[in-house]
Amino acid sequence: MLKLSAWGARSLHAQRYRGTLQVNWLPTMTLDDVRAQLQTARDQVPKRAIVNHCPVPLPRRLWVYWVQRAGLEDTLTWANLPKKGLNALVEQISRGQFEIAGKGVFKEEFVTCGGVKLSEVDFKTMQSRRCPGLFLAGEVLDIDGVTGGFNFQSAWTTGWLAGKAIGLSAE
Ligand SMILES: Cc1cc2nc3c(=O)[nH]c(=O)nc-3n(C[C@H](O)[C@H](O)[C@H](O)COP(=O)(O)OP(=O)(O)OC[C@H]3O[C@@H](n4cnc5c(N)ncnc54)[C@H](O)[C@@H]3O)c2cc1C
Repeated sequence: MLKLSAWGARSLHAQRYRGTLQVNWLPTMTLDDVRAQLQTARDQVPKRAIVNHCPVPLPRRLWVYWVQRAGLEDTLTWANLPKKGLNALVEQISRGQFEIAGKGVFKEEFVTCGGVKLSEVDFKTMQSRRCPGLFLAGEVLDIDGVTGGFNFQSAWTTGWLAGKAIGLSAE
C-alpha cells in the first residue's frame, strides 16, 4: 500500500484523494480460475464451513475478511454457498473495490512527494542553480524514495553534502 500510494501520489493528489481503488488479490489467477477453485471446494469439502477452508492462496485473515464482507455467515458450509455468495467472493478476490475517502492526516505520511526540482540543484554541493547561496537537503527536494530507509539515506547524504559545501563556501 505504501508503494502504491507513492507511485500514484501525483494522480491521487490530482483527484483530491478520492476515487475507487480496484485490487486483484491474486494477480496470477484469472477470474475464471478463482471461480473454478471455489467451485472445486464446493464439490470436495461440502461439509466444511467456508470461513474455515480457503481454497485459494490467500492469507487466512484476509480470507475470513472476504467471507464476512460477502455477507456469509460463519456457520455456512460450502455445500450451502449460494451462487450470489460465490460471485461476491470471486468479485472481491479478483477485482475488489475500495473507496478512497481522503488521505491520512498530516505526519502520517512517510515521505512527501514533490518539492524542489532535481534539475535545479547542483548535486555536488546541493546548492540551488536558481538561487545561489541557497542549499537544499532532504524532504524539500523532489525525492520520493521507496520505503525502507532510502528517504533517511537521502536526507543524511544531501544534508552532509550541503553542510560540507556551506562550510567550504564560508572559509
Ligand atoms: C511516520 C514516518 C515514518 C517514516 N519512516 C521512514 C522510514 O522507515 N525510512 C525512511 O527512509 N524514511 C522514513 N520517513 C521519512 C523520513 O523521516 C524523512 O524523509 C526524513 O526525516 C526527512 O528529513 P528532513 O531533515 O529533510 O526533514 P524533517 O525530518 O521533516 O526535518 C525538518 C525539520 O525542520 C523543522 N522545521 C520546519 N519548519 C521550520 C521552520 N520554519 N523553522 C525552523 N525549523 C523548522 C521541523 O520541525 C523538523 O525538525 C518517515 C516519515 C514519517 C513521517
